[in-house]
Amino acid sequence: MKLPEPIKNVVDGLSRLPSIGPRQAIRLAFYLINESKEDIHALAVNINNLRRIKICERCFFIHQNKDNLCDICVNPARRKETIMIIEKETDLISLENTGKFTGRYCIIGSVPKTGILEDWQKLRLQSLKSFIEKGIDDGGLGGKADEIIFGFNPTSLGDLQTSILVKELGPLTKKVSRLGRGLPTGGEIEFADDETLGSAVDRRS
Ligand SMILES: [Zn+2]
Repeated sequence: MKLPEPIKNVVDGLSRLPSIGPRQAIRLAFYLINESKEDIHALAVNINNLRRIKICERCFFIHQNKDNLCDICVNPARRKETIMIIEKETDLISLENTGKFTGRYCIIGSVPKTGILEDWQKLRLQSLKSFIEKGIDDGGLGGKADEIIFGFNPTSLGDLQTSILVKELGPLTKKVSRLGRGLPTGGEIEFADDETLGSAVDRRS
C-alpha cells in the first residue's frame, strides 16, 4: 500500500536506524502520528539539536566544549598514556559508569572482518598514531603509549578485531592488554553490569 509522502519520508528515515526494520519503522511512524502536535514538534527540535554536538578530535566521543576536546580528554586526572580502544560511544558510557578506568579512550568503530578499515576508521587510527608519536613537548606521547587496552566485545569477532589492530598499534605501546575475561563470553560490553565490567577493567591482562 502506498503511504502518503510525509509518512513515507519518516519511515525511510527511521528504517535507517540500527535495529529498526521497515515494519517497526512504519509502526513508529503511526505511533508518532497519534502523539500530540507539541510532542512531535519537541522531538523534531531535539533531534535537530543533535547537530550541535561536536566530536572530540582525540578520542572521537561527543562533547559541547568550546575547543576540540571532550571532557575526558581535557581532564588532567585522566592518564593520556593509557588508551583503551573501543568500538562505540555506548561502550564508553558503560565503561565510565564503572568508575574504574582512569585512562582515555579511542572510538574506532566496528573493525571489518576483512581487516580493511573504512576510510573514516583509517583517519581515526592515523590520528591516534600521530598523537602517540608526537613529541611530549607538542602534547603527544613521545613515541610510545604506556598501555593500549583493547576493549572490544568478548566474542570471536572482538578477538579478530583485536588481532587486526594489535598489528597496527603494538609497536606504539609498552604494553598491550585486553579487558579481563570475567565478561560473559559472547556478551556485549554495552550491556554488562557495572560490577562485571568494572572487574574486567581491573583484571585486564
Ligand atoms: Zn576526547
